[in-house]
Amino acid sequence: MAGMLRADAVRKSFGANEVLKGISLDVAQGEVVCLIGASGSGKSTFLRCLNLLEQVDDGDIWLDDVEITDPQVDADDVRQRVGIVFQAYNLFPHLSVLSNVCLGPVKALGRARSEVEVEAMGLLDRIGLSAKAKSYPDALSGGQQQRVALVRAIAMRPQILLLDEITSALDPMLVGEVLDVIRDLRRDGMTIIMATHEMTFAREISDRMVFMADGQVEESGPPEQLFTAPQSARTAEFLARHRG
Ligand code: ADP
Ligand code: MG
Repeated sequence: MAGMLRADAVRKSFGANEVLKGISLDVAQGEVVCLIGASGSGKSTFLRCLNLLEQVDDGDIWLDDVEITDPQVDADDVRQRVGIVFQAYNLFPHLSVLSNVCLGPVKALGRARSEVEVEAMGLLDRIGLSAKAKSYPDALSGGQQQRVALVRAIAMRPQILLLDEITSALDPMLVGEVLDVIRDLRRDGMTIIMATHEMTFAREISDRMVFMADGQVEESGPPEQLFTAPQSARTAEFLARHRG
C-alpha cells in the first residue's frame, strides 16, 4: 500500500547551512514513526516542512494523492489535515481550556460551537481534565497543558499528527502522563510522526524509528533492529549514548 504521507528527497537550507540533504520517508496509515538524532540534526525542520511551516527547496511531499509542496495547494487546508504539537505549550493564555480546544474546529472548520463543545468535553474527559474545562492554561501544570495541546490538535480530526519533542520541556514527573495520551492515540489508530529524546518510549511505541544525522537518514527500521542490530556504527553509538 502506498503511504499516506510520503516525502521524497526533501532538501532545505537556511542560508549556506543545508539542514535537510535529501530526506525521504514513507508513512502508512496508522503507523507511528519516531525521529531521533542529535540536536541540530534537522528533526524539527523536517516536521515543519511536512506541515508546510517551512518551504522545501527541493524534493516533494505527498499527502494521499496530493502533492502538498505544489505551490498551488492551499497551505491552510494542509495544516488542518496535518496536526502539529510543539515542545513549548502553545495554548492561548487568554482562552479557557475548553475554548482552546474548540477554537480551531469552530473558526477553521466552521463547525457549530455547541456540537464541538460536546466533542471537546468528551476529549477532555478522556485525558482526565474535564474538570479543568473552564480554567485558564496558567492554572494547569506543564503536563496538563501538553495534554490539552494534544486534545486541541485531535479536535481538528487531522489525518496525521506531528509531535515535536513534546515532553522535552516537562518536569520528569509529568512526562509519563503525556506519553500515556500518545499511547491512547496510537491505540485509536492515529498516524503519528514524533521527534523525541525519550528512547525507551520510542522503542515501545514506534513501528519504525528513523535516525537522522547531518540532515540525512542514517538508518531507519523497526526499533528492535536499531537497538539490537543496528546496521550503522553511528546509530549504535548514538543509541549507546542516549538509551535510558
Ligand atoms: P533538531 O530539531 O534536530 O534539533 P532543527 O531542525 O531544529 O534540528 O535544526 C537544524 C539546523 O537548522 C540547526 O543548525 C538550526 O540552527 C538550523 N535552523 C533551524 N531553523 C532555522 C531558521 N529558521 N533559520 C536558520 N537556521 C535554522
Ligand atoms: Mg527540534
